[in-house]
Amino acid sequence: MMAADPMVRIRNLRKSYGATPVLRGIDLDVAAGEVTCVIGPSGSGKSTLLRCINHLEKIDSGYVEVNGELIGYRRRGDKLYELKDKVIARQRAGIGMVFQNFNLFAHMTVLENIIEAPMAVRGKPRDEAVEMARELVRRVGLAGREDAYPRQLSGGQQQRIAIARALAMEPEVMLFDEPTSALDPELVGEVLEVMKDLARRGMTMIVVTHEMSFAREAADKMVFMDGGLIVESGPPEEILRAPRQERTKAFLSRVL
Ligand code: ADP
Ligand code: MG
Repeated sequence: MMAADPMVRIRNLRKSYGATPVLRGIDLDVAAGEVTCVIGPSGSGKSTLLRCINHLEKIDSGYVEVNGELIGYRRRGDKLYELKDKVIARQRAGIGMVFQNFNLFAHMTVLENIIEAPMAVRGKPRDEAVEMARELVRRVGLAGREDAYPRQLSGGQQQRIAIARALAMEPEVMLFDEPTSALDPELVGEVLEVMKDLARRGMTMIVVTHEMSFAREAADKMVFMDGGLIVESGPPEEILRAPRQERTKAFLSRVL
């Protein structure tokens, strides 16, 4: 029997800014329900990789597929043509993204933040969107705070709401870009717990993080990037215990 297609398939992904190559040929598969952690030094291309997956960046060559669908482009012969904005918006709606700095709408309450996209992009009726938002707020441990504004919440609470907001679009994949690195240390744990819960529920996740405890506990695969390439990948406990590449060793000795 053929193995199931991966939820995310990336092949020979290349991306430059001007003359500077930032991704120099990335190949990565993430199976449905699996969690992949991406680690690597600053400037190695981790954020750019995530941004290419949901087509926040155009790519130079190679491709990204999510659930078998080419993202951002359509193929014609052996050429790729960029899709219309409307189609890209629809694709992006299925790929949740959580950033370092929460990016909640400051002038909207928690509930309004969560129902906005399901109503505007998915056309969900308001009462359904509200019902789902309340359930998500409960799931991230913030029941009762639906009417709070972001500034009234701690960083950890804001990030949990940002996760709830992404989940409200019922994404097939969730991308996290250093979701805890802007948080005070005592607030990191509550965000990681929400992410672990999501992993246990079978969400496909790609997580850029330097929280090795999360990687060890929740990740199926760890990928080490340097200089726009995946230098090494494997089970987190193997990479952490016995990295094979010198660059991985050097990086881990700095962060562990
Ligand atoms: P990481 O997330 O691993 O720190 P990034 O993907 O943010 O790395 O950046 C990789 C490289 O690309 C860095 O050298 C960065 O300066 C460069 N870069 C990122 N975004 C842009 C941009 N919009 N324009 C020009 N250079 C960029
Ligand atoms: Mg980054």
